[in-house]
Amino acid sequence: YVAKQSADHIMFYDTSMSEEAEHRLKLLGDLRHALSLGQFSLYYQPIVNLSDGTLLGAEALLRWQKTRHELLEAVDFVPLLEEAGLIVTVGNWVLEQACIQAARWREQQSPDFVISVNVSPLQLEHLDFIGQIEKVLLNTKLPPAALMLEITESALLHHPQQARATLAKIRQMGIKVAIDDFGTGFSSLSRLGNMPIDSLKIDGEFARELYHRRGQQLCQAIVQLSQALELHFVAEGIETNKQKEMLLAMGEGSAQGFLFGYPLHPNEFAMAHFHPAASTQICN
Ligand code: C2E
Ligand code: MG
Ligand code: MG
Ligand code: MG
Repeated sequence: YVAKQSADHIMFYDTSMSEEAEHRLKLLGDLRHALSLGQFSLYYQPIVNLSDGTLLGAEALLRWQKTRHELLEAVDFVPLLEEAGLIVTVGNWVLEQACIQAARWREQQSPDFVISVNVSPLQLEHLDFIGQIEKVLLNTKLPPAALMLEITESALLHHPQQARATLAKIRQMGIKVAIDDFGTGFSSLSRLGNMPIDSLKIDGEFARELYHRRGQQLCQAIVQLSQALELHFVAEGIETNKQKEMLLAMGEGSAQGFLFGYPLHPNEFAMAHFHPAASTQICN
């Protein structure tokens, strides 16, 4: 028996464990070929101004068309990409694709559009990360201020000094930096205060807890923290008008969530957010 222990439960696996392991191994094998087979794509989810709903930009989210009928969301395979060390290669592809798309949209649709790209801790630690970004910005002609890199709190945990130095360089280039899933990673507040960053992305967990008094207070505290540190905030996972109204009452910021739009294929994104009136026109 193998015991897997987490905070609230202990589970025992026997035969199902090997099945699970087999499944992961198979998935990993498939993942290794996904990039060369062109099975990855990026979906885009709008980021808007909380107060008036204006489109500010979008977050690029990785999708894997595993089979004809199976489109996997990032949450289901990005951790595996990270474990396998494939995230650096895939992440470079993501950065380039997202910047190409953003440059096109800025030129054709929305001159101030900002593209947010998720960066894995392994990418951040990679020696050539800055070089990669420089190359992509040069090739795509995207202005640095149109790019926002999202780093999770946990990425700052392991090598905070190195992370700090890298982020400082990134910001000197004029690129924006956001802390993703903020509030879930137990980062040290004193360290956070010294991090060269622009925004906190408040994890969707807090929006879900807004219906309880305690959750409201926590969310309010994070908004106040962002204000104290002179950072912008982006509230993630906003699904209802009620949540939007509550956040709006807490402070000025941006928001992202199903209420404002689902992650969409670029053509659909353009249709929904740049040409809301058109329904049959193909953009891109
Ligand atoms: P994230 O960066 O926090 O992205 C937000 C996730 O929440 C996305 O899931 C999105 O589909 C989902 N979401 C957005 N609005 C709502 C909402 O209103 N309600 C709910 N319940 N969910 C919402 P997704 O696409 O599965 O991505 C999961 C995570 O995978 C991302 O979390 C990010 O950490 C990572 N990820 C995604 N794309 C990439 C990538 O290109 N590179 C790297 N390194 N990580 C990525
Ligand atoms: Mg993100
Ligand atoms: Mg997030
Ligand atoms: Mg998240």
